[in-house]
Amino acid sequence: MSRLSKEEALHLIRHASLPELGKRATQRKEELHPDRVTTFIVDRNINYTNVCWVDCKFCAFYRHGKDEDAYVLSNDEIDAKIDELVAVGGTQILFQGGVHPKLKIEWYEDLVEHIHQKYPSITILGFSAIEVDYIAKVSKIEVREVLERLYAKGMTAMPGAGAEILSDRVRDIVAPKKLDAARWIEIHRIAHEVGMTTSATMMFGMVETDEEIVEHWSMLRDLQDITGGFTAFIMWSFQSQNTRLIEEIPTIEKQSSNRYLRLLAVSRLFLDNFANIQSSWVTQGGYIGQMALFFGANDLGSTMMEENVVKSAGASFRMGKEEMIHLIRDTGHIPAQRNTVYDIVKHYA
Ligand code: SF4
Repeated sequence: MSRLSKEEALHLIRHASLPELGKRATQRKEELHPDRVTTFIVDRNINYTNVCWVDCKFCAFYRHGKDEDAYVLSNDEIDAKIDELVAVGGTQILFQGGVHPKLKIEWYEDLVEHIHQKYPSITILGFSAIEVDYIAKVSKIEVREVLERLYAKGMTAMPGAGAEILSDRVRDIVAPKKLDAARWIEIHRIAHEVGMTTSATMMFGMVETDEEIVEHWSMLRDLQDITGGFTAFIMWSFQSQNTRLIEEIPTIEKQSSNRYLRLLAVSRLFLDNFANIQSSWVTQGGYIGQMALFFGANDLGSTMMEENVVKSAGASFRMGKEEMIHLIRDTGHIPAQRNTVYDIVKHYA
């Protein structure tokens, strides 16, 4: 199959019919995953702090250090969450802040080391590019050193959070203090070089153009060509409730399910070097989550024992493992629990 150009991707977004996109994306998915298995992971997001100085306008989760409900979790609080995860057969924790203005590399090293030693079976998917970038700055060391030191302590994977749309025009509007697009890519490149896997994300439905969406995919595809370090692509739509962005730009429209499925299908076709594309049932709901399996997705993501970031912005879907299995079976696929690097932990044939 020849590689889709940016122009072809744009054309598909704008002019292809939804059934045609579904057919093509499914065909491509089945070339890569011929066994009809749809995977999911049992993991837990741990929002270790909600203190953040970055002030993204689309975020309803963060607080400033002096706010009454600002917090940093203690090791005991984090352990209690991991104990619950282990009890239900979970394999991964996803650490997601706040970009705390004062926490330095030693704090993160101690945390990762503590968890890795106490829970060796749990994969630590930790700290997004913006957190890593800031840990480097506040600790006065290079990003590569941050990642090497955390890797040495047991953090083997980095989440793709903070990509939003990899366009500096968009970022200047929605998150002017956040790292720029090239830096996000660079930090993921370094993470791959250090030995970590990472995921790639996209949050659409703010102020971006179709061209900027395709450019975002193109930057991801280029890096994947070089390193092969991305395990998956995950996209979701902007959840506007309680955010400053919707107050400032009230004309931003909620994205339709049609738009979500359309972009998902084209991402499957364009990102031809990504094995795994995730469905985002947390923001789209269970039904569209299922439909996504017919538009290129081969993975349903996490059972989400806990999610506070998009929940703060109005996305409140929840799902247990049994429901996830049922939902996958209902579509004629075979459910399987996977780990962070997409190895199968258990089939539910
Ligand atoms: S999205 Fe992340 S970096 Fe931005 S304000 Fe929220 S917590 Fe901070």
